[in-house]
Amino acid sequence: MNIIKSSVTSFNSIEFIVDDFDHFIFANFIVKNNNKILKIKSSKVNINKIIFTLEATIDIKYDCILFYDENIYSKCNYLKLFSSKEFNDKFYTDEKLGAIYNKNFTQFKLWSPVAEKVTLLIYNNGDITEPEKPKRFPMDCKNGLFNITVYEDLKNKFYTYEVKVYEQINETIDPYAISCGINGQRGAIVDLSDTNPDGFENDISPKTINNFTDAIIYEMSIRDITKNPNSGAFHKGKFLGLCEENTKSTIKEPTGLDYIKNLGITHLQIMPMFDFSYKSTDERNPIDYNWGYDPQNYNIPEGSYSTDPYTPITRIRELKEMIQTVHKNGISINMDVVYNHMYGEKDNCFEKVFPGYYFRHIEDGTLSNGSMCGNETASEMPMMRKFIIDSVLYWAKEYHLDGFRFDLMGLHDIQTMNILRNELYKLNRPIMMYGEGWDLPSSLPSELRASKNNAEKIPEIGFFNDRIRDVLKGNVFQKSDQGYISGKENLENEIRICVRGSIKNDGSFVSPIQSINYITCHDNNTLWDKLILTNGFEPEDVRIERQKFSLGIILTCQGIPFFQNGMEFLRSKQGIENSYNSPDSINSVDWDVKDKYIFVTDYIKNLIKIRKKHPSFRLSTLEEITNKLQFLLDVPRNVVAFTIKNDDKLEAWKNILVIYNANRNAVKINLPNLKWNLVVDKYIIDENTIETCTNNYTAEGISISILYSV
Ligand code: CA
Repeated sequence: MNIIKSSVTSFNSIEFIVDDFDHFIFANFIVKNNNKILKIKSSKVNINKIIFTLEATIDIKYDCILFYDENIYSKCNYLKLFSSKEFNDKFYTDEKLGAIYNKNFTQFKLWSPVAEKVTLLIYNNGDITEPEKPKRFPMDCKNGLFNITVYEDLKNKFYTYEVKVYEQINETIDPYAISCGINGQRGAIVDLSDTNPDGFENDISPKTINNFTDAIIYEMSIRDITKNPNSGAFHKGKFLGLCEENTKSTIKEPTGLDYIKNLGITHLQIMPMFDFSYKSTDERNPIDYNWGYDPQNYNIPEGSYSTDPYTPITRIRELKEMIQTVHKNGISINMDVVYNHMYGEKDNCFEKVFPGYYFRHIEDGTLSNGSMCGNETASEMPMMRKFIIDSVLYWAKEYHLDGFRFDLMGLHDIQTMNILRNELYKLNRPIMMYGEGWDLPSSLPSELRASKNNAEKIPEIGFFNDRIRDVLKGNVFQKSDQGYISGKENLENEIRICVRGSIKNDGSFVSPIQSINYITCHDNNTLWDKLILTNGFEPEDVRIERQKFSLGIILTCQGIPFFQNGMEFLRSKQGIENSYNSPDSINSVDWDVKDKYIFVTDYIKNLIKIRKKHPSFRLSTLEEITNKLQFLLDVPRNVVAFTIKNDDKLEAWKNILVIYNANRNAVKINLPNLKWNLVVDKYIIDENTIETCTNNYTAEGISISILYSV
């Protein structure tokens, strides 16, 4: 007989399975915990499971082992207990965790009900390669919360915790650390008031939006935006690079922030800028490129983007300076957050402090891996939920951020996201929340996931809309698959759904604020590279028409338009589909390309102006869309045309007509019986009217047209 699997299910019960049900003697079983034998009070059998109720309480700081004889035994797994309500009710704490600095004392608090002992280690140096004997402070523990107050001024010292847990001694950084030494291995004790650039207290988010549909999101990377030799920036690839004004390209045209500002977008979405793994990018010598979807410390800015990653306040101050400057230029900032997994299954601060608790597992005790990155965090565990909420609120308040983009949001649970939504509303600013709502193979039941399928249960959070992405350019996983903008036919109905913001009943969203309308982001080929795959047989100028056309659609569909940096000037990554660790030569923004295709940028810029000026393009509820937006039915094949009727005083254009013609040839459209002013055609954007039309209008091939009547 062998014990196959054994688990602790409550503080005084275990369950297990044996492989040979007919040949064992109940009386032979012994349960040992912390060198003591725990008497078995009662036993019962449930199908193939045996359940023991014990007389005493199991001490969870020690292994609980079930013996049959000297050779047959099994260590009981604690994961079921840790995820039970009983456990979390007993140990949950809403105390503020981390190192709380005061001039005369610093308080340290770390939560770990399973740690046998925790010692605070204080260092002068943040670099683990410098030999140094730390000062040691054993911490007190009360109901799973370790704490100590050190009555010294510890400003700018470094700290770690030495955690003794299940016979292992782990030295680790505090998950709540707000800064660190080089490569993020030791926490830093900082006085946050030292980290504010001049005037940061008065920095306020620019008033860019009232409704979330007013936003135009522009995704970029700190490194890519200024790393190219032709960016003209001094601090290339750094936070400070994005604060530089008057940077110029080879032919002396604006780059960086000045360029972005002219474009007219409202929100920058910045790819990971929290501290990502030093194994991806070594902060000592950051030659290796990485996007940074490898979280190491959630509440600390990335060191390789700072001019001095050894000095803990510098990375904070430089990021704040960047935010302040971007805000001054009238642009809001959304942070790309990656709470769904951590770099390294074992080598991370959560696992070293409390093994097992913060991650999801499947039945057999192995890690659930919906992220495809080796592990996935368990947002539904009350202390992980608290961590995510604390962390997002910290960034929103301390750094004045304006929105959060959740990587693999479908791995988070609905409850956590809705609590967070409410908490962010309390800050009285329109802080955006949206993310990737893919439904992934997680151990979290599908009905609890913050995925697109459950959009109704998280009605005020947005989702990357893969429907519009794929219908416009073709499937991202099939290289040669075309979409509406590249010549595939019979997609008119799909396009109509997207025009309405993919809202119900045909779409899955309850409101246009849920639809992040995009065609490419950092993942997969850039739009230009995809067009080379699908339409490489065409002359370049036809592909340019297609790219312009697709951006025009993104800007005129209901929902929230999203641009990948460079999409408006045909950015290419030389056909590299997944450039997460490709060199700067592939990833960095080539500003000379921008100058070459500035006529495309100018067209998009003028369309952005029109969208921002006319609320009809930014309806914020399902009802408004249903009442105001109507499709023209009598149109040629591959054409989608619609009117938006608006009697609102804010809207000068009473009736707007938008026409998408995906055919290569021009087509004649019968117009509704009004006098129409043409303001956008394939080549020109002129709000003072290009020409007036009645009865009919000829739309050029591969083009968007906008007309209005008063
Ligand atoms: Ca780092």
